[in-house]
Amino acid sequence: MLDSPVLTLNSSMIPIDICNVKEAVTLQILNKAEAVKVDENYVIRSQYLSIPLPRVIMLLNFHRIPRKKVVYSRLNIIYRDDMRCQYCGKRFKIDELTVDHVIPISRWDEIPPSKKPESPNSWENQVAACRRCNAIKGNKLLEETHLKLLKQPVEPKYMPYLVISKQKAKQYGWLEFLNYNVRIIEAIQT
Ligand SMILES: [Zn+2]
Repeated sequence: MLDSPVLTLNSSMIPIDICNVKEAVTLQILNKAEAVKVDENYVIRSQYLSIPLPRVIMLLNFHRIPRKKVVYSRLNIIYRDDMRCQYCGKRFKIDELTVDHVIPISRWDEIPPSKKPESPNSWENQVAACRRCNAIKGNKLLEETHLKLLKQPVEPKYMPYLVISKQKAKQYGWLEFLNYNVRIIEAIQT
């Protein structure tokens, strides 16, 4: 229960983050946040307090929209590439995309260090690819195929918005708060 996610709004009611119940309650106790939506069915009790489970909190003195550092993950590679196959350029749904190693892991040692990124599993060596292009690419190097990259893959500095799955938003009653700074996705594939 203390690990359940809590939507965090800034002082202008704009969603900026997701924390957990434990963090949310701590912020409430410190008077740094107040709950704007709670689940009355559950109560957090300790020696000193008894408060309903927060689902959405608002930070009381925080007006900014912080830039979020992007965590390296397959899903975030797909977002960085705007859900577009980096070989054929078409857009797909998230679950129709794969993540391709530009230099395949099986060929990694053939390439001199000066001509490759530091790691095969990195922002610089992985791109979103549709299944068809990924099958064509297989374990070939780019120059052994007719495929070309739309752009050179790089590490994104930040995500311009929060990414939240629709299922999660429904489950925790967040939908009414997600009008701005949020990208709602159908499902999270990792
Ligand atoms: Zn493709």
